[in-house]
Amino acid sequence: MTAKKPRLLTGDTPTGRLHLGHWVGSIENRIALQDQYECFFIIANMHAFTTRMEKPDEIRQSVLDIATDYLAAGIDPKRSTMFVQSDIPAIPELTFFFSMLIPYPRLMRNPTIKDEIRDKGLGDNYPFGFLLYPVGQVADVLAFRPEIVPVGEDQIPHLEMTREVARRFNQLYCNVDSHTEDKDYLKKGGLFPIVDVKLGRARRLVGITGPDAHGNLLKMSKSLNNAIFLSDDPDTIAKKVRAMYTDPKRLKATDPGTVENNPLWIFHEMFNPDEKWVAESEERYRNGAIGDVEAKKKLIDVLVALIEPIRQRRLVFEKEPEEVLKILREGAEKANAIANETLHLAKKYMKQNF
Ligand code: ATP
Ligand code: MG
Repeated sequence: MTAKKPRLLTGDTPTGRLHLGHWVGSIENRIALQDQYECFFIIANMHAFTTRMEKPDEIRQSVLDIATDYLAAGIDPKRSTMFVQSDIPAIPELTFFFSMLIPYPRLMRNPTIKDEIRDKGLGDNYPFGFLLYPVGQVADVLAFRPEIVPVGEDQIPHLEMTREVARRFNQLYCNVDSHTEDKDYLKKGGLFPIVDVKLGRARRLVGITGPDAHGNLLKMSKSLNNAIFLSDDPDTIAKKVRAMYTDPKRLKATDPGTVENNPLWIFHEMFNPDEKWVAESEERYRNGAIGDVEAKKKLIDVLVALIEPIRQRRLVFEKEPEEVLKILREGAEKANAIANETLHLAKKYMKQNF
C-alpha cells in the first residue's frame, strides 16, 4: 500500500476567466503538486455573489469557464478533485460556527478586504455578505483539513485568519493547550491543522494598465479589466501587449527608460525563459538602446508560446460543457465525503451531535 498523500486545497472565485496572475500565483504550483498531494480545487461561486449578486448568468458561465480553464491548464480530474462550492452544504454550516471565532474588529482590519473595497470601488455600499466571504473562505479551507494552500499574496491575510480560527477551535472545543506549537495541534488532539501557505513564483503579478491615483500598480485581476487571460488568442494578446503601460516618461526609443515598476519588464522577467536576453535588453532600455516596440514584440512571442497550447486544449473542452459539468459533479461527490466528515467531527467536538 502507498502512504496516504497529504492534502492540498485552493481555488478561485468565478468572476471571469483565469489569467496570467493565476498562472504564476497558484496554477503552476497546483499542476506541479498534483502527484505529491491529494488535491482539491474549489470554484467559490457563493463568493462571486458578494460583488455580483445581480448577475447569476454570468456567475454560472464563469464557473464553467474556470473549470474549463483548469482542464486546459493541465489539472487532471483523474488525479485531482475540482468542484463547485455551493454543492458542498457543510461549508456554509461551518461558516456560521467559525464566524463566532472571529472578532468583528479583527475582520475589518483585514488588509485584503480594505484593498478590495478600494480597488473594486465598493465604497460603503457593499452587502453584509461581502464581509462574510473571508469567514466562508476559512470554512472552504478547513472543511478539507488540508496541509497546504497554494495562493497569491493577497490571500495571506485570509489564510492567517484560517490559522487563527483553527487554533481557537482546537483550544475551545478539543481542549488543546494554547501554548501548543502550530505543527503539534493535531498530535495534541485538535481537529483542524494549522495550514501552511505556499506562494507562487509571482506573489502578486501586476496588471497591464497604469498605476492608480496613489501611484501603485494594481494587481492583475479578473474584475479590474487589466488581465491577459489563459484563453486569449494570439491577436488579443498582441493587442493587449501593444497597449500595455510602460514608462510614461519615455517618448522615443532613444530616451533612457525605467525598468523598475514597468509591467513590460516585470512580464519579461516573469515569463521570458531567455534570461540573458532579458538582462541585456533591460540594460539597453535604461540606455535608450531598445524601443518599446521591439521589447513588446518579443513579449508577445513569449506569451503566445505559453498561452497558445493551453488555449488549443481549451477549444477541445469548450465543445463538451456536459463533460465539464460531469467532472464537477463527480468532484462534488468526493469533496462532500470529506467535508461532511469534517462537519460531523466539528459538531461532535462542539457537543452539537444530537
Ligand atoms: P477577483 O478580481 O474577482 O478578486 P482575482 O483575479 O483576484 O479575481 P481570485 O479568484 O480572487 O482572482 O484569486 C484566485 C487565486 O489566484 C488566489 O490564490 C489569488 O491569490 C491568486 N491571484 C489572483 N490574482 C493574482 C495575481 N495578480 N498575482 C498572483 N496571484 C494572483
Ligand atoms: Mg481576488
